[in-house]
Amino acid sequence: MTKWVYNFGAGVNDGSAALRNLLGGKGANLAEMASIDLPVPPGFTITTEVCTAYYDNGQSYPVELQAQVSAALTRIETAVDRKFGDKDKPLLVSVRSGARVSMPGMMDTVLNLGLNDVTVRGLETNSGDSRFAWDSYRRFIQMYGSVVLGVDHHRFEEIIENAKMDADVIEDTALTPAHWQQVVESYKDMVAEETGKPFPQDPHDQLWGAIGAVFGSWMNPRANVYRRLHDIPASWGTAVNVQAMVFGNMGDDCATGVCFTRDPSTGLNEFYGEYLVNAQGEDVVAGIRTPRPLSQAYAKPGEVSMEHAMPEAYAELNKVRDVLEKHYKDMQDIEFTVQQNKLYMLQTRSGKRTAAASLRIAVEMAESGLIDRDTAIMRVNPASLDQLLHPTLDPKATPKLFAKGLPASPGAASGAVVFTADEAELRAQKGDSVILVRIETSPEDIHGMHAARGILTTRGGMTSHAAVVARGMGRPCVAGAGGISVDYGAQTLSAGGVVVRAGDILTLDGATGEVFVGAVKMIEPQLSAEFGTLMGWADAARRLKVRANAETPLDADTARKFGAEGIGLCRTEHMFFDPARIGAVRQMIMAKDEAGRRVALEKLLPFQREDFVSLFKIMAGLPVTIRLLDPPLHEFLPHGAAELAEVAQALGMDAHAIAERAAELSETNPMLGHRGCRLGVSYPEIYEMQARAIFEAAVEVGKTGAAPVPEIMIPLVGIKRELDITRAQVEKVAKAVFAETGTTIEYSIGTMIELPRAALTADSIADAADFFSFGTNDLTQTVFGLSRDDAGKFLPHYVEQGILAKDPFVSIDVEGVGTLVRIAAEKGRATKSALKLGICGEHGGDPASIAFCESVGLDYVSCSPYRVPVARLAAAQAAIEAKRAA
Ligand code: PEP
Ligand code: MG
Repeated sequence: MTKWVYNFGAGVNDGSAALRNLLGGKGANLAEMASIDLPVPPGFTITTEVCTAYYDNGQSYPVELQAQVSAALTRIETAVDRKFGDKDKPLLVSVRSGARVSMPGMMDTVLNLGLNDVTVRGLETNSGDSRFAWDSYRRFIQMYGSVVLGVDHHRFEEIIENAKMDADVIEDTALTPAHWQQVVESYKDMVAEETGKPFPQDPHDQLWGAIGAVFGSWMNPRANVYRRLHDIPASWGTAVNVQAMVFGNMGDDCATGVCFTRDPSTGLNEFYGEYLVNAQGEDVVAGIRTPRPLSQAYAKPGEVSMEHAMPEAYAELNKVRDVLEKHYKDMQDIEFTVQQNKLYMLQTRSGKRTAAASLRIAVEMAESGLIDRDTAIMRVNPASLDQLLHPTLDPKATPKLFAKGLPASPGAASGAVVFTADEAELRAQKGDSVILVRIETSPEDIHGMHAARGILTTRGGMTSHAAVVARGMGRPCVAGAGGISVDYGAQTLSAGGVVVRAGDILTLDGATGEVFVGAVKMIEPQLSAEFGTLMGWADAARRLKVRANAETPLDADTARKFGAEGIGLCRTEHMFFDPARIGAVRQMIMAKDEAGRRVALEKLLPFQREDFVSLFKIMAGLPVTIRLLDPPLHEFLPHGAAELAEVAQALGMDAHAIAERAAELSETNPMLGHRGCRLGVSYPEIYEMQARAIFEAAVEVGKTGAAPVPEIMIPLVGIKRELDITRAQVEKVAKAVFAETGTTIEYSIGTMIELPRAALTADSIADAADFFSFGTNDLTQTVFGLSRDDAGKFLPHYVEQGILAKDPFVSIDVEGVGTLVRIAAEKGRATKSALKLGICGEHGGDPASIAFCESVGLDYVSCSPYRVPVARLAAAQAAIEAKRAA
C-alpha cells in the first residue's frame, strides 16, 4: 500500500530532510528538526505524490488517503491529549502548503482549524482566556474564509473596522472578548451570504476543505505563472502539512517570530530576527504591528529585544540556532512560537541573503570548518557579484518609476539628461554627471558613452551596441526601453504622460532596467576581504581560464584588477573613433583606390601601434587576442548632411562626392554585408596595416620586458579560403617586420567561429587556424536568423510567453547555438588536437553559458572587465559540478 501520509514530532518521524521531493521543503524540514529532538509540535505531511495523483485522476484522492489521514490525526490527538471537535479539550491544527521549493502564489496557511461554535467554548474554559479564544476563532474564520472559501479579505476588514468604530477604539487589541464574539457572528453571517452556505462547523469538513484548497491552489493562475517563470514543472506537486497548533497569542509570556541564524543583509554572525509578544503566526510578516528585534545587538534605544524580554525562551532559541546551523551547515531562516515561555519550532529553511552576506557566510563557514571550500564556492551566486562591483540604489529609497527597459549593464547612475555624445563629453568635462539618452547608439557615440554616468536607449537588445559597450566600460545601461519616446528635436523624452527635458535628472538601475525621474540615493561598492578569499579559492578550483574583452588601457587595467588572465577580444574598430584618428579612418574609406587608402592607413599606423604597445604592457606576459577590423565601413561615416559637410571640408573633398561614397557604402543588411574578413579580402592593405602595428608593438615591448604573445584573430570567416588569404597577409607582414627589426616574436593566427558555415566546416578551417574563438553574438544572430539590433522589440515577449526560456543573446541557446559550438569544437580538435578554443561573445560572462563552455571543454572564456569576477566564480562552480558528476 502506498504511504501517502508521513508523521513527524512526538517521537514518530517517518520523514527527513532527504525526502524533500516527496514531503516538500517545509514537511521535510519539520521531520528533520523533530528527528534531532528540536521542539516541533506533532503533525503529519500529505505527500506531493497525492497532489500529482489528485490531478492525474480527475481531482480525486487516492482511496487509502482518508484512512491514513485519520490515523495520523489520532496520533496527534494522543500526543497532545486533545481531541478534534472535543467540546472540552479541542485539538486545533494548522494547515500549510509546502512544495519542493518555496513557491509564492499558492494557498499558504490556515491556523486554528478545528474551532467552531462549540469548541471555542472549550478553548475558552480550557485556557481561562476569553479574549484569546474568541480572537482565535475570528482569525480562523477570516483565514479559512479568504483562502479556502475565496471571500475577499476586505469584507473581513470592514467588519473589524465597524466593530472598532462601534466600540470607539483605535487598536484591535482594545477590543474586548464580547466584541470579538460579535465579530465572529458578523463574520459567519457575511461568509454565509457570500458563499451561500453556512460556515463549516464540522472540523473534519474544515480539514478536508483546507487540504483541497492547498491542492487546488497548485494549479491556480498565480502559481502557474510563478512556475513558468522559475522553470518548476507542474508534475512536482505540493505537499500539505497538518500540525498541532501552539499559541503565541495566549498572553505576555507568549510570542511568535521569524529569524535568521546570521544577519541576512551583511552576513554578520549575529542572531537576527523579529518577534511580537502575544501574537499569532502571520502577524509578524503581515505588518499589522511593528515587530521588535530578537537580539539586543539589533535593538535601538527604547526597543525591548526578546533577549531581554524573554531571556529563557531566547536562550533556548539561541541553542536551537546553533544546532540548526551545525546540522544544516547553512544559514537558516526560522519560524518559531513561544507558548507560555515554552519554545516551539515551526519551520526552518535555507535563508535568503544579499550577495555580500552570501560571500561572508560562505567564507566564514569554510574557515570555521563547517563546510569545505568547494561548498563555499558553490554557495555564492556568481551573477550576484555584480551587485558588489557597482554602485546600487539604496534599497530604502522609494523612487518614482518612469519606465522600464532591459537590464543591459548593471550598476546605478544619476545625472542630467543629454541627447548627444558630444554634449555628454562637453558637460562631463565641466564636471557634470550626465545620462546619455539615445534611441540607439553607434560606434560614433563611444566618447559620449564613456563620458556619461549611464546610458539609456529606447531600441536594441541585450547585445545591441549600447549594451555591449556599456558592459565593457562598466557603465550602467538600460537598453530597449520601448515605452519611452525620444524627441531629439524637442530635446525631450516621455513615457506614460511624463515628459523629461534635457538637463532634468534621471536615475538608471542597470541591474533591473528601471528608470526613475530625479536623483535616487545610492550605495557605493566595497570589496570585502571575503571577496578576495573566495575568489582565490575559485581560482584554485577552476579549469577554464578567464580573459577580458578590452581595448582601452583603462578597460585593460580594470580587467587585470578583476583578475583577467589576458585579453580574449580586442575590438580594434573601437580604437578608430578617437577624434585624433577618425579623420584618417574616413580618408581611408573615401579613398578611390588602394594608393589613396595606403596614404590614410600610413597615418593610422602609429596610433594603432601605440594602442597595442600600451595593451601589451598592461597585459605583460599574458595572451592578447587582437581582432582585425570587423564592422562595415559605413559605420565610420558621419550621419546627416551637416556632419558630412564638415568631414568633406576636413578632408578637402567635395561634399557631394562624400555623400555619394556614403550612399555607395550603405547596405540593406550591413550585419550580413561587407564586413569582417570580407573587408580584409577586398582591401588587404587594411589588415596589413593592423598586422604591422601589432608586430611592431610586440617587438618594441619585447625589448624592455617580457615579449607579448599576440594572437591575431580574423572575424566572420565562413569559408576556409578566406582564412587562408588573410592569414597569408598577416604572415607576410610578420616576416617583413621581423626582418626589418632583426627580432622574432612568437604569435598565432586564429579565427572567430561566428557563422554557422564556419562551425559546420570547422575541421577544414582548423587547418588554417591556431585557435578558434566563438563569437556567440553573431553566431546567435545567424543561427536564429535574428537581428541583434532589432531583437529587443519582440524578444522580451518571447521570453514572457515562454516561447524561449531565456534571451539567447544573454544566455547561450544550448540546444541550437550550443550544438553548433559543440560540433565546431569537436571537428576543430579532430583536425588539431591542441587547437585552443575560447568564447568571446557576451555569453562569456554568463554563468549558465560558462557551465556549457566547461562541458564542451573550451580553454577559456572572455567577457567584459566587470564580469571577470563573475566568470571566475562561475568557471569554478562549473569545474566543481563536473568533478562531482564524474
Ligand atoms: C561576437 O559576434 O560574438 C563577437 C564577439 O563579436 P562582435 O560582438 O564584435 O560582433
Ligand atoms: Mg561578431
